[in-house]
Amino acid sequence: MSLPTVKTTCPYCGVGCGIEATVEDPAAHRVTIKGDPYHPSNFGKLCSKGATLGDTVTLENRLLYPAVDGRRCDWDTALDHVAGRFRQIIAEHGADAVAFYISGQLLTEDYYVANKLMKGFIGSANIDTNSRLCMSSAVVGYKRAFGADTVPCSYADLELADLIVLVGSNAAWCHPIAFQRIRKAKDNNPNLKVVVVDPRRTASCDIADLHLPLKPGMDALLFNGLLCHLQRDGRIDKDYVANFTNGFAEALHQAETGAGSVAAVAAGCELDPADVGQFFAWFAGTERTVTVYSQGINQSSSGSDKCNAIINCHLASGRLGKPGMGPFSFTGQPNAMGGREVGGLANMLAAHMDLDNPAHVDRVGRFWHSKRVADKPGLKAVEMFEAIGDGRVKAVWIMATNPVVSMPDADRVKQALQRCEFVVVSDCIANTDTAQLAHVLLPATGWSEKDGTVTNLERRISRQRPLFAASGEARHDWWIISRVAQRMGFADAFAYQSSAEIFREHAALSAFENDSAHQLRDFDLSAFVAIGQTEFDGLQPVQWPVTRERPQGSPQLFGDKQFFTADRKARFIPVAPQGPRNKVDADYPFTLNTGRLRDQWHTMTRTGLAAKLNAHRPEPFVEIHTADAERLQLKNRSLARIESRWGQMLARVEIGAGQRRGSLFVPMHWTGQVSSHGRMGALVNPVVDPYSGQPESKQTPVRISAWPATWYATILARQPLAIRDCEYQVKIRGEQFYRYELAGSDAGKDWRQWSRELFSENGIAGVGDWLEYSDLQAGYYRCAYLAGNRLQACLLVGPDFELPEPGWLCSLFPKPELSRGERLALLSGQPPKGEADIGRIVCSCFNVGEKTIQQAVQTQKLQSVAAISACLGAGSGCGSCVAELKEFLPQPG
Ligand code: SF4
Repeated sequence: MSLPTVKTTCPYCGVGCGIEATVEDPAAHRVTIKGDPYHPSNFGKLCSKGATLGDTVTLENRLLYPAVDGRRCDWDTALDHVAGRFRQIIAEHGADAVAFYISGQLLTEDYYVANKLMKGFIGSANIDTNSRLCMSSAVVGYKRAFGADTVPCSYADLELADLIVLVGSNAAWCHPIAFQRIRKAKDNNPNLKVVVVDPRRTASCDIADLHLPLKPGMDALLFNGLLCHLQRDGRIDKDYVANFTNGFAEALHQAETGAGSVAAVAAGCELDPADVGQFFAWFAGTERTVTVYSQGINQSSSGSDKCNAIINCHLASGRLGKPGMGPFSFTGQPNAMGGREVGGLANMLAAHMDLDNPAHVDRVGRFWHSKRVADKPGLKAVEMFEAIGDGRVKAVWIMATNPVVSMPDADRVKQALQRCEFVVVSDCIANTDTAQLAHVLLPATGWSEKDGTVTNLERRISRQRPLFAASGEARHDWWIISRVAQRMGFADAFAYQSSAEIFREHAALSAFENDSAHQLRDFDLSAFVAIGQTEFDGLQPVQWPVTRERPQGSPQLFGDKQFFTADRKARFIPVAPQGPRNKVDADYPFTLNTGRLRDQWHTMTRTGLAAKLNAHRPEPFVEIHTADAERLQLKNRSLARIESRWGQMLARVEIGAGQRRGSLFVPMHWTGQVSSHGRMGALVNPVVDPYSGQPESKQTPVRISAWPATWYATILARQPLAIRDCEYQVKIRGEQFYRYELAGSDAGKDWRQWSRELFSENGIAGVGDWLEYSDLQAGYYRCAYLAGNRLQACLLVGPDFELPEPGWLCSLFPKPELSRGERLALLSGQPPKGEADIGRIVCSCFNVGEKTIQQAVQTQKLQSVAAISACLGAGSGCGSCVAELKEFLPQPG
């Protein structure tokens, strides 16, 4: 009997890859994941994160039951309590005393209902989303230029382009399958050039013909310089500019102030003038140019202006609305775009209408049959948590997100929630840094149970379909919000029974008075206003607008050169380049850059469950340039303290030439649940872009110093441990074991006694065998505990960070029993002769470690990535590790 296969969509990044999930055992939540060969986003490919989704659908750490004040209760009790407290606070303090903080992880239907409740019926616009941290500057850029939040391009444009400029985008790690499409396009088209504009040398530079490691924050200067160059070089599309745009002269005039020559731009950006000239020449001479930009542009106190500086160059050269060209914002989250459609941001209404437009407010009010639609913007994320902290907002409902980790100035966010009168958290995960502060916990369905739609970064709507029934008492987010709304007195407007019904209403709103008699809006799903359940269930991926005239959707927009402004012309925006708001100084001399890793997603609540994904970069780390590390006497793999004016963290030092001097990079993923000092959000300055409210997460002034650890330790244990008395600790889930990296600046411990107490208190040690080695004088101690012939736990302690790399020890846990040689070798941490130690994992798809690769390259004289792939498989899966594989090959010269 064939097993049921469900077509659904990956819940991680904005690429929006299609998945075929075969449910092997519903009761055990066992599922096989494959890329959907027919999905137009990925054509069967998946990256390491998507491919391991099957490992993350466990019930481990799932929130399964509602709870009020820490006590489990039934849904009626929880919902009555939430509705009652919100009603009471609104009655006493007004609608603006409550807020929702929601997420690009929600489905469009969840988003729609949350927005409708807050803006349409509570009557406040205090609803904002974690997408604020990701792409709200891109929204402002598009709206200012086009009159609407319209992403004009598609992935197909990447394959038709002759020049792709990646600006502030490490797509190789953050949008891996889109990046693989670019890599393949480059293989197929020798004329395709790729330019990477990024202060840091990232994995995306692997395919770059030119890397511009510009001074952090100077992107607008570079693109203003490009605009001037287009003018100087006679590359302005005069017909396009004259007939279809406004404001060119003002934008050019502003650009000429400070960016009028290659030399001035190169000096301001701290780049080689020849490289700047080369980039300008390629852009000027290449009709089919796509500029991809992402968080490196958006997460800035002048992110909106940077977006417009890029768009200005496309408008000036008329490179828009035709195949293979356009300004293409890459969003981070799976449904950031769905959130934009429904108005999930505090300064948007719904269906791409505006809060500050009375006609839009009136229209939405008539559609929703509500007279209380908010008519002014609400609090954006940073403002919202400030208002929670100072008591203006007294109740907040946080849905599917973890702001105690992800927000800038995250310690202040934590304090704000600790002080807040009423905190509701609805999530599928039980123990998050944010859930720990909730008065009410509401269990939501997870990815494998959800049913609705998401929109990817090229406007493609795809279905997420359930693989399993809801776990425990979890409910869909739209259901939870609707039931609270009903109890708040809005029963008629929130009587939803299905996500199809909500999608239909969402489509109907997009079509409502969306015609030239009113004012045309870009977002239009009029083809779906009567969609039934069966059609919804079978909905194929499609790019909006989807109308009766264009039922197959719209891959590209603005081919007709008609925009959504009052005069239907696009607008140039004059941009005065600005650096980061907070400058480095003698006390905080480094610029901190933050970002994603290849194998983790957000705060690791799901990817952290997949052992494979934790093997690539197991600990929080800080990248620093070799010369800076030497000057500060920071050693590779030692621990360093990074401090800003807002907070601090500890991280492993990773030294390399990929950083600019004076810059540091830390990943964004570690939480208080898995690390004692790894929350990078605590460091990040809470300054924001004045138009978008997006925080400047890429440029915080910091300092770095060696952390004076006197001992380091690694523990591997078959089950999780509660370790109380360690200053530094990181927990890493492995294949049938948990790994702990520990360190302290104290005198150390009586390791023999400590290990015995720790392992027995945690139910590991009993009547089995202890193996032990100690040289306490020199600060070394090692022990292992075996039950029968199976390794249960081991501890390795040393006076410095040079402990054995634990790859081989980790590989012993899945083994049913150890060989005699393995037993004897245990305390050395090295495999016995004849057994392989694969080392740190480089290729997650095929579980290939660095030592395996090194050995194969040396012994088999491998000369190319293709040869490594043929020999070991590494690099032939999702392709995300290809850049790293190249580092193992013999270097020229
Ligand atoms: S690129 Fe990876 S994380 Fe992003 S949607 Fe595709 S499979 Fe998921």
